[in-house]
Parts: sequence; structure tokens; C-alpha cells
Amino acid sequence: MGKHLAPEAKKTETKKPRAERVVQIPVRPYVRKGPSRRAGEADAPGRDMLNKTLDRTFSTSDLILGALSLFLLILAWFLPTTGLIRLLSFLLPFLLAGYSYLYEAFQEAFLGIVLGRELIVSLASLMAFCGGSSFSGAAVMVFMKLCDLALAFTESLHNEKVEALYALRPESASLVRDGVPSAVPAGELQIGDVIELAPGDVVPADGVVISGASSLDASALTGGSHCFPVAAGSAAVSGCRNLTASLRIRVERTQDDSVSAALIRSAENSWMHRSPQELLLGRVLSYVSPALVVLALLFALIPSVITGEWRSYLVRAAILLTVSQSFSVVQSIKLCYDCAAACAAAKGVLFKGHDVFEALSRAETMVFDKTGTVTEGIYRIKEVFPRGVSSDQLLFLAGAAELRSRHPIAKAIVSASGVYASDINVVDIRETPGRGVCAFLDGRSIYVGNAALMDEHGIAYASPSITGSVIHVAVDQHYIGHIVLEDALREGAFDALEELRIAGVSTGVLLTGDVHSSARKIASVLNFDMVKAELSPEEKCKSVEYLMTNRNVNTTLAFVGDGVCDTEALRLATVGVAFACFDKPEAIEVCDAAILGGDIKTLPRAYRIAGRAARSAFENAVVCAAVKLAVLIFGAAGVFSLGFAVLLQTAAVLLEALNALRVLYYEDKDFSLRKEKNK
Ligand code: ADP
Ligand code: MG
Repeated sequence: MGKHLAPEAKKTETKKPRAERVVQIPVRPYVRKGPSRRAGEADAPGRDMLNKTLDRTFSTSDLILGALSLFLLILAWFLPTTGLIRLLSFLLPFLLAGYSYLYEAFQEAFLGIVLGRELIVSLASLMAFCGGSSFSGAAVMVFMKLCDLALAFTESLHNEKVEALYALRPESASLVRDGVPSAVPAGELQIGDVIELAPGDVVPADGVVISGASSLDASALTGGSHCFPVAAGSAAVSGCRNLTASLRIRVERTQDDSVSAALIRSAENSWMHRSPQELLLGRVLSYVSPALVVLALLFALIPSVITGEWRSYLVRAAILLTVSQSFSVVQSIKLCYDCAAACAAAKGVLFKGHDVFEALSRAETMVFDKTGTVTEGIYRIKEVFPRGVSSDQLLFLAGAAELRSRHPIAKAIVSASGVYASDINVVDIRETPGRGVCAFLDGRSIYVGNAALMDEHGIAYASPSITGSVIHVAVDQHYIGHIVLEDALREGAFDALEELRIAGVSTGVLLTGDVHSSARKIASVLNFDMVKAELSPEEKCKSVEYLMTNRNVNTTLAFVGDGVCDTEALRLATVGVAFACFDKPEAIEVCDAAILGGDIKTLPRAYRIAGRAARSAFENAVVCAAVKLAVLIFGAAGVFSLGFAVLLQTAAVLLEALNALRVLYYEDKDFSLRKEKNK
């Protein structure tokens, strides 16, 4: 497995002893499921072609240079000059636009990079000059400059959007050494360090609150208003702003392995998992580009010798050389995904590669987990049914057993029981995902969980008299009653699912470990066709597997879960979408896309962004292929001049850059507004 969110190079400086360091079980870094590169991808032909990046950044001086050379080119075209003066007037824009390319071409020639972009284009330009078409020779360079400017400009706007996210990653942190806080670079924080966070500070790395009580604002991270209270024991997620009082936090992940870093990396699109189309394109181009260069050279030689019209064929060969250049198409497609990643990250959605956009856009079926996904995941106790003990005793024992569990049911029981970790000595807590917990307190074993847990331990239990999620409690095999809880639907869940259905996604399957009655209630409100309840995490996986094998070819299956008891299903589905997971790093680790916040309307948004990205990338590929093919045919036939050929190709690149920008600023209209319009 590749380490997806790993920093490029960790500082190897020897660690100074620091106060309040505690021994920690090392946490796994965030990884992307499957090999970080698909088998053979690294060596696949065309990979080099995909990995080339624009090494020019957008600058005003470059823009002025590009505009000036274009102006001089047009001026030279209209000036009524002839002979040497005309040649010189075209040489000026040629040199202005192309001096850096010529320099790089020399370097490439020196290093033996015969298919180098700059070398090929410079060759095409010089061939045009030799063929007597000085306008075309200059135009090749000027238009190449304009193409690069367009791509660099798009890239700079993408970078601007990414830089806005850097606010989530403060540069310094207040490290507590011997009880005294002192400023250190946040990138140097280590697991176990204790940091102090004043009101207004941003949490620099994922950790857990060890003292203080305050509120954290996660809106910059999740892309929607999101404040919540924290106290000792609460998770402190990097990128959240501390609002009211000072907190002490124990670091549980280094800054580079923290959630905010994951989001920033996704916006920068540094995962570089390519979409299948890109891989295919890279493979095709790796054969087509050199073939075109060879064809161009043959074109320059053979017909020239036969017909004697070497000037005309030299220019036509130059056209073929310009067609052989695929850099801008690869870049324009990559930019579509980069822009989509930045657009999604600004909304708190993390995509782990180009292939995820593509796969999500092809999702035919979305399978949903219930608790914490379509429901709030915040349980409320409806009623307590004790047997031979008081309600308070039942809640106390259940709360004590549930103290360490992060399940939403456990949280509700613990808060109703009033039990604090410091009050009691619970040992050997064993949690069975999808069933419940078993814990030992003062020599007694306490079982808290669903009917399956009771069956597993051979404990007879009573049937509930009201509907809801039923949690049975037993002490040393003696049944002492049950607690009935209920969870509320997420606000906007109905609209979000309807919107996905309108977009053509089948959202008919609900999987849950909860009881049938609760599941059916939710399913009927949200119009699910199929509900599978009382599932263990393994059974959830089997259901996902079954649906995956029975889906239509060319479509994908997405599983949307909150990462509690469903991480395996997230890993298994073609697209695992972790939802409301900003404080669940283990879910972010295994998923393909993560929606950090809990606003379910972000799900159709993410789906639309994925669709927009995949469509734009496809459109760019089609535009480029059509233009290149037309230029190839009509250029070789002598219908298109070289000047027109490069003008056409430049227009295509400008169009492609604009198309990528459309993705960057893709602002979807609110579904409710659209519904109102349709009325
Ligand atoms: P869902 O599939 O709806 O997200 P889960 O798989 O998280 O639900 O849990 C399924 C069921 O397992 C719960 O409804 C509950 O009955 C039981 N369960 C899981 N964890 C616990 C726990 N810590 N305490 C009590 N019951 C639990
Ligand atoms: Mg769940």
C-alpha cells in the first residue's frame, strides 16, 4: 500500500526529550486502498507523457511578452514589406516569444531528448522559416507561448483556490514543555506532544483534548457552518478553529498525516491516480507522437525529392510536427481534474485521484448505510425498561460498559448515565462491531448490545414493546432490561436522495445493523426500495459484494457510509464515500472520497462535481483529437497553412483551459431553489 498522505521528506532531526510525552500506539498513516499505483502503471507506456508538468508559472511579464509578440506578429503580417526586411520583422516576435523555448531546445538536443517538446516545436518553426513561410515560423512560437500562458493562468487560479485552504494548516504551534508553552514549527509536532490552543487558534494537528472546555469551529474544513463543544477526551481535528477558551491537546497524528493535510493534498491533487481515460490517452500518445515525428521527417524528405517542391513539403512536415505535440491536451485534461479537486476541497470533499471522479460520475447505484449517514447518528433515549433493577442502575451499568465505545448509541447511553471515566474502573472492554460491547466491572461482566449479542452469549431477553433501536443489558448472564433509542433523519436527506435519483443514480438500497422496525421507518420516509437490517459488518460487505457483481458493466457502485462499522464496505465498493467523517481518520484512510461535514446535500454536489470533471476531461480530449485530426489531414494535404494550423490548435487549447476553469468555479445551484423553479 502506498502512503498516500505521507509528506515527501520527513525531518530526520533527532528528537529532543519533551515534557508530557506519552507512549502511543502508532497510528496508521492515511492510505488509499489498493496499490498506490495500479499494477504496471508505473511502467506503462505513456506514463511519462502524463507526468510532464508545466514548468512555467504565470507571470505578468510573461503575459506582456506574449501579448507583445502577438501584436508584433500581426503587425509584421500587415506591414507591406518584402525580402529581408519582412524576414526580420517576423524574427522579432519569433525571438520574443521563443527565446526560452530555443534555449530549452538546445538543452534537449544536447541531452539527446529527441522528442522534447521545445526541440520539436523549434524544429517546426525553423522548417517553416526555411520553407519560406516566415509568418508561420514565427506563429508557431507565438502560439506556443499563448498556449502555455493559458495553461499557466488556469493553473495559477487553481493554486489560488488551494492556497485559501492553507489557513487550515497553521505554521506554528504552542508546544508545552515542562508545563511552559513555547512556539515551534507545527510541521515538527510529534505524536504524544502536548500543545496549547488559545481562543482563535487553529488546531495544527489531529489530537485529543486533555484539558479545558471550549467550542471548535470546523466550517473551514467541512465547507459548511459546523461548531461543536469539546472537553477532555474529545477529538480535536486539525483545521478547526478554537472559539471560546484555551485547550490543551495531545497530538495523535503529525501535521502531515492529519485530516487538514489530507484535504489540502486532495485539492493539490497530489495523489496522481489517473483516470482510465488518461491512462489510455497516455498509452496511445506514446505511440502516436513519435510516429508523427517520423512521418513528418519522411514527409519532408521523400515527396520533396520526388516532386522537387521541397519548400511546400517542408512546411507540411512542420504541420505534422506541431500535431505530434500532445503536451497541452494532457495538461488540459489534468487541469480539469485538478480544478475539480480544488472545487470539491473548498466544499469539504476530498477525492483521492482522477479515477475517483470518473468512477463516481459513472455510479449507477448508491448504497447507503443508515446510522450516521442518512440519520444524524445522534441517538436519544426513548424509554428504559429495567428488569429487577432501577432505571438509573440499568443506565449506570450500560454507561460504564459503553465508556470507551465511539458508537453513537454508546455516546447516548454514556451521556444519559452520567458515568465519567474517572469514576469507575472498567477493564477488558470488548466491542463487537454491529453487536455491542462486553466489559468487566468489579468482577462482573456486563453485556450491552442488540439481540445478536444476547444470542451469542446465550442470554434470554425480552421483546421490546415500542419501536426503536433496542439495546439489551445483561450482567453475568442475567438479563436486567433494555433501552430503546431513536435517531433523527438528517435534515435534507430526502432532497439529497431525490436529487441523486433525478440525476439517474439508483439510490434504492439501505443497509443497516439496526433493527428492522427502525430501518423500515427510515426507508419508507426516504423511498428506499430495499432495506437490509440487522446486518453485521461482514454481512454489509457481502451485500455490497453481491450488488457489485450484479451491476451493469461500465457502471460503478458507490457505498456511502459514516465509517462506523462499515469501513470494510467502504474499502470494498468501487467508490467508497465516507460521510460526515472529519473526525474519523480510519474512514478517511480507506475510502475513495470523503465528505468531511455532515450536510447530506454535499453528496449530490460531490456527484455533480465528479460528473462535471469527467465530462470536461472528455470534452477536452474530443476537442483536441478532432482539431489534431483535422489539422493532420488538411495540413498534410496542403489545404491548411502552418499559421492556420497552429492558430486552430491554440484556439483548441484556449477552449480547453476555459473548460477546466468552468470546473474550478463550478457552483451548483441549490436543489431546493431548482425545485421551486420547476414548480
Ligand atoms: P448502522 O449499520 O445502522 O450504521 P451499526 O452497524 O453501527 O449500525 O450498528 C448496528 C447495531 O449494532 C446497532 O444498531 C446496535 O444495535 C449494535 N451496536 C453496535 N455497536 C454498539 C455499541 N457500542 N453498543 C450497543 N450496541 C451496539
Ligand atoms: Mg453507520
